Amino acid sequence: MSIRTKFTETFGIEHPIVQGGMQWVGRAELVAAVANSGALGFITALTQPTPADLANEIAKCRDLTDKPFGVNLTILPTINPPPYDEYRQVIVDSGIKIVETAGSNPAPHLPMFHDNGIKVLHKCTSVRHAVKAQSLGVDGISIDGFECAGHPGEDDIPGLVLIPAAADKIDIPLIASGGFADARGLVAALALGADGINMGSRFMCTVESAIHQKVKEAIVAGSELDTELIFRPLRNTARVASNTVSREVVETLNRGGQFEDVKDLVAGSRGVKVYETGDLDAGIWSVGASMGLINDIPTVGDLVARMVDEAEQLIGSRLSDMIADEEEENVA
Ligand code: NAD
Repeated sequence: MSIRTKFTETFGIEHPIVQGGMQWVGRAELVAAVANSGALGFITALTQPTPADLANEIAKCRDLTDKPFGVNLTILPTINPPPYDEYRQVIVDSGIKIVETAGSNPAPHLPMFHDNGIKVLHKCTSVRHAVKAQSLGVDGISIDGFECAGHPGEDDIPGLVLIPAAADKIDIPLIASGGFADARGLVAALALGADGINMGSRFMCTVESAIHQKVKEAIVAGSELDTELIFRPLRNTARVASNTVSREVVETLNRGGQFEDVKDLVAGSRGVKVYETGDLDAGIWSVGASMGLINDIPTVGDLVARMVDEAEQLIGSRLSDMIADEEEENVA
């Protein structure tokens, strides 16, 4: 059995599950494991220091899987703006067929991607941006609720409202993102009108995710209360793990500080040390509220198989058993 949706059909993926772009985490080993499990993984372009490194990472992933996978290209404020056009060229030249865009309007990228037969899944955090992206011709929308790790936008609308509100306006495949970590979330998203889910933190906390074991253990130990929203006053909000660094950033900006005052604290080059060394206070690291739902460190294959199996049981037994037929009602 399998769950078939508009997403699985359009993107040619076995299961309606996506591992979206994660800075410092979306690398070949994880993405290949996700592909081999029958879900859709994305290598994060900007995790690679140069466009040439991205080409190598894509090649490495190809050595590990013959199933489809994609590349995420995020365009948000950065301390040193990367050469986005060169990253985009590498994506095309490497024969990638699915791209996840995020962070800004996908319009500048669409002609080049579509001319090269690349499907674009655009991740955004509001219904108005989803509608706009659909009108521009993207192939799917990933709608990211307030629960998510990283940048949830500035509207603070949680998935329970954002997903059905988007589903009312979106005809192309819709992926629900933010707060998803298990089969219950997958079934709920399908019920809310989505065609699949995106998970970040859940995939971070798997055997194949190339981050330090101590970070995975911190995710298992952490609860839904253990994140901070940084950069609120700068309108570049990001949900990250609560630690000494993120709390200092919140306090500094709340006191009227500017980006320059926190730049050294938040630099990605510092945050990556958390993942490399396991020192949880080395810098800023992203994790979502779904941390409260993550209780183990499975292989990606076991995680996806378990989720699909449990989702089928939820739909086929728990939910369908709640439908009383007329005869039973009369006897009662
Ligand atoms: P970086 O070191 O350049 O910046 C660190 C953080 O500061 C990022 O969150 C960035 O958005 C923010 N920032 C940079 N300049 C800013 C400014 N002038 N005003 C307000 N905020 C500013 O970035 P990085 O850690 O190397 O990450 C590279 C890219 O990946 C960035 O675009 C970043 O936003 C993005 N990212 C996304 C996620 C996610 O979960 N979606 C997580 C981390 C980083």
